[in-house]
Amino acid sequence: MTRSSVSAPRHASASLEAVLASAARELARAGVPTPEVDAELLLAHVLGLGRGELRARALSGGGLAIADEERFLALVARRATREPLQHLTGRAPFRSLELAVGPGVFVPRPETEMVAQLAIDALQAVAAGEPVAVDLGAGSGAIALALATEVPYARVVAVENSPLAFTWTRQNVREVGAPNVRAVFADLADALPDEDGRVDVVVSNPPYIPRDAVPRDPEVRLFDPEAALYGGEDGLDVVREVSRTARRLLRSGGTLVIEHGEPQGASVRDLLAADGWHALATHRDLLGRDRATTAIR
Ligand code: GLN
Repeated sequence: MTRSSVSAPRHASASLEAVLASAARELARAGVPTPEVDAELLLAHVLGLGRGELRARALSGGGLAIADEERFLALVARRATREPLQHLTGRAPFRSLELAVGPGVFVPRPETEMVAQLAIDALQAVAAGEPVAVDLGAGSGAIALALATEVPYARVVAVENSPLAFTWTRQNVREVGAPNVRAVFADLADALPDEDGRVDVVVSNPPYIPRDAVPRDPEVRLFDPEAALYGGEDGLDVVREVSRTARRLLRSGGTLVIEHGEPQGASVRDLLAADGWHALATHRDLLGRDRATTAIR
């Protein structure tokens, strides 16, 4: 009898090291910028482990059950199509939070953590017992929830106008369970008329990419919602709206914090100055790129 060329079903577990190495090679071929990290994070997700625990198991020669290996390989194949890692794990870290994300909502970025810090600093500098902050275009709720959890005596409103994104805003507000944050479905142009002149800090990470500057990363170009990326011809259409709405919402002396792209500092300062804002200052992110501008009403 000839031996079958098809290998017998494998019962022994594959080595974690070998599975990780081959997944990292597949991701590298697909152009994923950090293939080893992504392979480890996906396998840690499948096994319900932290990345450090996974490394420890791999180093001590641990193995992988076939069912887990199959789930892992399916996720690696999706990541190789450049589906964002955060959509595959369903989670995105932001400051001290782990937010739920997926199709229809912008994945929070590390550089936005310093934008949230500027808003937190402004909120903490307010003398009032219960300062009020508004996040215009809240998406996953990352900034609003960072403010609400890190300044627990503040009252925070998260405004979002995309029906799909708003389901994520609401889910994260529910999951984080901060009692002092409220999600409101509204266009930022006419949002929150009841709060006119009563707000201490307005913060926004609006869409700011110029229409013709299509992002290079497929994760961004193909999976982040267009409404969260593009801000018209010069990228600043929504920044202009944020400026108008923030002037209506903020009390005199209140602070505006706007995220923008590296080359946009001067144009954002110019348009804010033309709208009557004071004390304009542009701030850099951790990579030294101009990333946000603050102004006082
Ligand atoms: N920061 C975004 C990006 O990387 C651009 C749009 C935004 O954050 N509002 O791609």
